Amino acid sequence: MENYFDTMNKELCNGCGTCALICPVNAITMIEDKEGFLYPEIDKNKCIKCNKCKLYCSNVNEKIEDNEKAYSAINKSEDELKFSSSGGMFYILAKYTIEKRGVVCGVTYDDNLKVIHDFSDNIEECKKFCGSKYVRSDLNNSYKKVKAYLEKDLYVLFTGTACQISGLKKYLGKETKKLITCDILCHANPSPKVFEMYIKNLQKIKNKRIKTIWFRSKETGWKNQIPVIEYEDGEKEEENSYFYAFVSEMINRPSCYACKFATKRRISDFTIGDFWGIEKVDSNINIENGVSLLTVNSNKGMKIFKELKNSITHKEVNYDLAASFNHYQNVKVHKNRKKFFEKIVEGTINEENIIQYLKRYTRTPVYRRVLRKTKRIIKNIINK
Ligand SMILES: Cc1cc2nc3c(=O)[nH]c(=O)nc-3n(C[C@H](O)[C@H](O)[C@H](O)COP(=O)(O)OP(=O)(O)OC[C@H]3O[C@@H](n4cnc5c(N)ncnc54)[C@H](O)[C@@H]3O)c2cc1C
Ligand code: SF4
Ligand code: SF4
Ligand code: SF4
Repeated sequence: MENYFDTMNKELCNGCGTCALICPVNAITMIEDKEGFLYPEIDKNKCIKCNKCKLYCSNVNEKIEDNEKAYSAINKSEDELKFSSSGGMFYILAKYTIEKRGVVCGVTYDDNLKVIHDFSDNIEECKKFCGSKYVRSDLNNSYKKVKAYLEKDLYVLFTGTACQISGLKKYLGKETKKLITCDILCHANPSPKVFEMYIKNLQKIKNKRIKTIWFRSKETGWKNQIPVIEYEDGEKEEENSYFYAFVSEMINRPSCYACKFATKRRISDFTIGDFWGIEKVDSNINIENGVSLLTVNSNKGMKIFKELKNSITHKEVNYDLAASFNHYQNVKVHKNRKKFFEKIVEGTINEENIIQYLKRYTRTPVYRRVLRKTKRIIKNIINK
């Protein structure tokens, strides 16, 4: 099978770092490339050519059966629903794990707004994992920590992208009863370098420090979520240039455009996403504060789901139909991606001006805007 080490094709590496962890002679180091993504580099002087790095590479979807069940799902607690991105499923799984005296691993910001994986055994503290952070997270040595917790016979909930979960499973090498995995229905992961430059640019413009970023603020409702920047002095502003570049697929990791996990065959116990298109599946459901598309993908997951059903407003739905409204196929590379990153590498785009370029390179051309408006007008006339 094609692999990153033989081809150096960046689409074949998701940056999980498992190869570096399993190399018997520590010959692999994860190095950041010019776009800000991590890739393994082999020290040829140390390598003993055992091939383990290729055999254990996580960038392969090994799910064989097709046994997922799909649900519309809403957390019955209105409070918990409000601070979650979609239907609040993550927090329900976190509570389940902590009630079993376990540990939760999720994605948060560190003090410098770097997006990292972190752990907590306290349910209040787990709120920091709520809310989508649209950045490739630094795994922060979490695979080793998960292994250590499991060796202490503790329950562990590990959440992240499907490729990060694949990396963890490859690293652990065997199924473990007390490991619960939940992937987010991601369609892509953007560059941490671009995110860092964006933050610095914003802070320079405003001449003050950012406290946090809510990519999915529900202040205007789930369907109209907007990215909100919160500054240390309490000011909040809507700013969407980075978010728009992310959803335009301009700043993603190359492996996301050839993702092996963007399919209905999910490798985790649970997958959580937004239930886009819910109105066409169930017109009676209250979607004001968000609804999740939850898929239960394993027997272990189904056993847990049955224990949690009472805290979730849920309904089984046709998986094919639900999937048709979401990202179950690879996203396309934005036409300006190459140009954008070339300009970062040469220094034309920097932390003084990146916002300007994020906007310029994702702006819809005038003729398209005119075309869209004309279509809307004609549609309105026909519908009258
Ligand atoms: C980069 C990214 C792309 C996404 N793309 C889609 C999509 O195309 N379609 C769709 O339906 N849903 C997508 N989602 C998922 C969606 O935004 C919600 O995260 C999901 O519905 C969970 O909602 P919740 O209410 O249960 O979660 P919340 O309570 O908001 O839970 C957040 C969960 O997301 C995890 N998380 C947050 N940021 C990251 C990150 N950077 N990397 C890995 N895990 C993270 C946390 O660890 C936690 O488990 C994406 C999420 C991310 C982070
Ligand atoms: S071939 Fe073996 S020794 Fe060489 S880098 Fe890969 S895992 Fe390490
Ligand atoms: S194991 Fe992970 S980091 Fe290593 S080559 Fe495969 S995908 Fe890349
Ligand atoms: S789209 Fe695929 S490769 Fe990209 S972060 Fe998600 S699971 Fe990983």
